[in-house]
Amino acid sequence: MHPSLEHLQKILKNEISLGYANKSIIGGLPKMLSFWEPNARRNGLDASLIETIAAQLKAYPELPPAERPAAVEALLSVIAQAEARPAEPAPAPAPAPARPAPPLEPEMPPPPPSETRAALPAAQPAPEVRREAERPAPPSTPAPPKRVEAAPPASASREVAPPPLTASAAPPPPPRPAPAYRPVRRPPGDDGAPRSRPARGPTVQALKADTPVDAAAGIDSPLTVLNGIGPERQAVYAKLGIETLRDLLLYFPRRYDNYSAMKPINRLEYGEECSVIGTVAEAHARRIRGGQATLLKVILSDATGQLEISFFNQPWLADKLKPGRQIVVSGRIDQYLGRPTIVPDEWEDLDQELLNTGRIVPVYRLTNGLTQRAVRKVTQQVVKFWARRQADPLPAEMVRRAELLTYGEALAQIHFPDSQEQLDAARHRLAFDELLLLQLGALRQRRDWQTASAAPLAAPDDWLAAFVGALPYTLTGAQQRALGDIRADLGKATPMNRLLQGDVGSGKTAVAAAAMAIAIRAGAQAALMAPTSILAEQHYRTLLNLLSAGPGQVPPEAVRLLQGSTPAAEKVDIYAGLRSGAIQVVVGTHALLEVPVEFARLGLAVVDEQHRFGVAQRASLRSKGGTEDGAPRSPHLLVMTATPIPRSLALTLYGDLDLSVLDEMPPGRQPIETHLLPSSERERGYAFIRSQVQKGRQAFIIFPLVEESEKIDAKAAVAEHERLQTEVFRDLRLGLLHGRMKPEEKEAVMARFRAGEDHILVSTSVVEVGVDVPNATVMLVEGANRFGLAQLHQFRGRVGRGPHPSTCLLVSDAAGAQADERLRAMEQSQDGFFLAQKDLDLRGPGDFLGTRQAGFAGFAMARLSDLRTVEKARREAQWLFERDPNLQAPELKPLAENLAKFWTAGSGDVS
Ligand code: ADP
Ligand code: MG
Repeated sequence: MHPSLEHLQKILKNEISLGYANKSIIGGLPKMLSFWEPNARRNGLDASLIETIAAQLKAYPELPPAERPAAVEALLSVIAQAEARPAEPAPAPAPAPARPAPPLEPEMPPPPPSETRAALPAAQPAPEVRREAERPAPPSTPAPPKRVEAAPPASASREVAPPPLTASAAPPPPPRPAPAYRPVRRPPGDDGAPRSRPARGPTVQALKADTPVDAAAGIDSPLTVLNGIGPERQAVYAKLGIETLRDLLLYFPRRYDNYSAMKPINRLEYGEECSVIGTVAEAHARRIRGGQATLLKVILSDATGQLEISFFNQPWLADKLKPGRQIVVSGRIDQYLGRPTIVPDEWEDLDQELLNTGRIVPVYRLTNGLTQRAVRKVTQQVVKFWARRQADPLPAEMVRRAELLTYGEALAQIHFPDSQEQLDAARHRLAFDELLLLQLGALRQRRDWQTASAAPLAAPDDWLAAFVGALPYTLTGAQQRALGDIRADLGKATPMNRLLQGDVGSGKTAVAAAAMAIAIRAGAQAALMAPTSILAEQHYRTLLNLLSAGPGQVPPEAVRLLQGSTPAAEKVDIYAGLRSGAIQVVVGTHALLEVPVEFARLGLAVVDEQHRFGVAQRASLRSKGGTEDGAPRSPHLLVMTATPIPRSLALTLYGDLDLSVLDEMPPGRQPIETHLLPSSERERGYAFIRSQVQKGRQAFIIFPLVEESEKIDAKAAVAEHERLQTEVFRDLRLGLLHGRMKPEEKEAVMARFRAGEDHILVSTSVVEVGVDVPNATVMLVEGANRFGLAQLHQFRGRVGRGPHPSTCLLVSDAAGAQADERLRAMEQSQDGFFLAQKDLDLRGPGDFLGTRQAGFAGFAMARLSDLRTVEKARREAQWLFERDPNLQAPELKPLAENLAKFWTAGSGDVS
């Protein structure tokens, strides 16, 4: 076949498989003419044929979608006819003389194949792998370089990007002449959702176009069906949890590198997450911290400048990173004495091929024995043959209405995006799916709970008034209103399911205590579950106080504390007491969910800091209601959170809950003075802490988040604790708290701090919630710019809880107006809701909640701050739920299965 016609045919087939969306060429089909036409001429294709084809291609984008299939069909038959004729002469009176075709030139335009997939040779290139029928052709001009944003929500900070860079040609990074760097700004208000795009039907044609590596292999086949994967490799992938082709398909990139848009060193911004290409200029390893650690410093250079790279405790890299080696490093840019530095998250050898293709390249999380290259190759095979044949679990009507990519297309684009737009669209689609499952589950749960029965728990007016009157303070108006809501719920025979939301220090515990008192008074038992043992102990002490006063009169021995570390004998005793009903109140951690915990008559279950728990855990506590006349009986449920989220988001996120808000603070709160300190003035912060300790007060120092990994954070905190103890506060006692410690260790540390034995507590973000040490008056947060405002607000809430004026010091290691503006908001406001909104405004799509707070393990894509998608998913979930609440239609079976998986996989973070 004539190469130009063959090329055209490929593109048309691809267009078919893409659902006639005019997407088989970036920028639309007519764009291909700029390279196809000259090539076709050069290769001697008949001129009138070229004209016919050109005219049809040019008209294509304007055609209504319904007419496009016919147009493509027409073009294909033009090709078929041309081929059916003798090679020459041309049918029409061709002005071009028939001449022997010159040696065939490749159809590709000068820049090499722009398709990432094409640039990645298969491990053992099977002939099938090379059949690129479904592959979009390269664009006529290289696509403008774009910033590529990380996919997973964990890296939302990437989108907290520093102010946009000025658009100008940048000096080229070596070793190739770089294209001008032109950052692409998203339109204002864009939250990462795609612009409207047509939905696509099932890509039947794509199936035909693909020939699987092993045609018989189903998506649940083991990886060994792939080229280049034997048992050994299989074992390596298994370490990442990848056993089947499906697992691999669902193993989404951590982030992406855009080789055409990497920044030269002199344009790096502090605080920015990015990848940098350069040549190793020098590398020196030395011992630090008294020989206990090694530091390898590498100077990376490009034509524009030098970047200092620090590798901690990886001395062997010195042998690898020899001068002259070209590498790509990724991580967050920092500065030291005004010079750019980086402690890289990862590095890899520069892949010349990727650089040249200048495409968006996926970067996967790796394990020992794997390279990015290898994973890309393997993933490419799977994506190519299996992604687009995945049936869409969503009803076509919904996909269309919600303007989503089809599932298969989203899977393909999430791995090897054709453009930033396609990547955004793929993320949007996959995020939508997750949020839909969240909503469907919430709706289902709400329905189930409403059909369950509960024991009505009533308390007389005068009794309640006496109880409230005996509290050590007068309830605020907001507390009274919330208690009113709760009391009304408790009086009903359907179980309460209420979220009590209130800023840090708004007094949620008192409301919970009153609710528990009502339950006890009505003859039921009450349980309170907290996410950490530190918090559980604290609540236990508070409830002992509040419940034993006034007409509550719960005897102390009827209030017990149950946690994982409770001695076995005591546990047995508590189990028995709960079963007999002798224990009226139990406070605890997850230990409350264990099987032996059974209640005689659990009337009310309270969950504090509920965002730390999975929905499944909530449900599990709820299932402890026992039975009444053989029928299961549900306790009333009150969940509490200080996470300041806008009401609309709360309703969406906790779609199964009713909402009460404490929007008023108890009187007489001392405002916490908040100051922003640049890191160069950190010493002033230390001096202030010292002065407070001299006055008998205590302080927290929060170590910055290093990574979304507790292990690494813990390590860093240990090092920082040691530094502070040996270099800064030699004469003071410093405690250390991090998430990797055992509960008993944590408790012991907290107990020492609470008792005033330690002056300063160095901690990772584990003290974030609930901790109450009234004598602590200083909260110093290192790397404050790395935390969301909501989280900083939580930290700040750890001080100012006693009679002493308190101070919060925010040490920022980022330069830049935006980081400052965010932190200035902390100086100006103490209102958590205001700050959450501010965070949302300033960080844009940044996930100010963090996935953790949703209580789900399973969010790979969704960002709760993306209100548009959240609300869209909520609408669609309701639509579906009204039609088929149990997802019984046969075509919804896959969705029903996903739903089941999503909800069993969900389990909260319990750091
Ligand atoms: P949070 O809502 O953050 O859980 P807490 O329940 O821990 O807040 O309450 C914070 C502090 O405020 C506690 O020391 C508590 O005793 C006190 N408190 C609660 N309600 C009132 C009130 N109405 N008046 C004065 N102090 C109150
Ligand atoms: Mg609390």
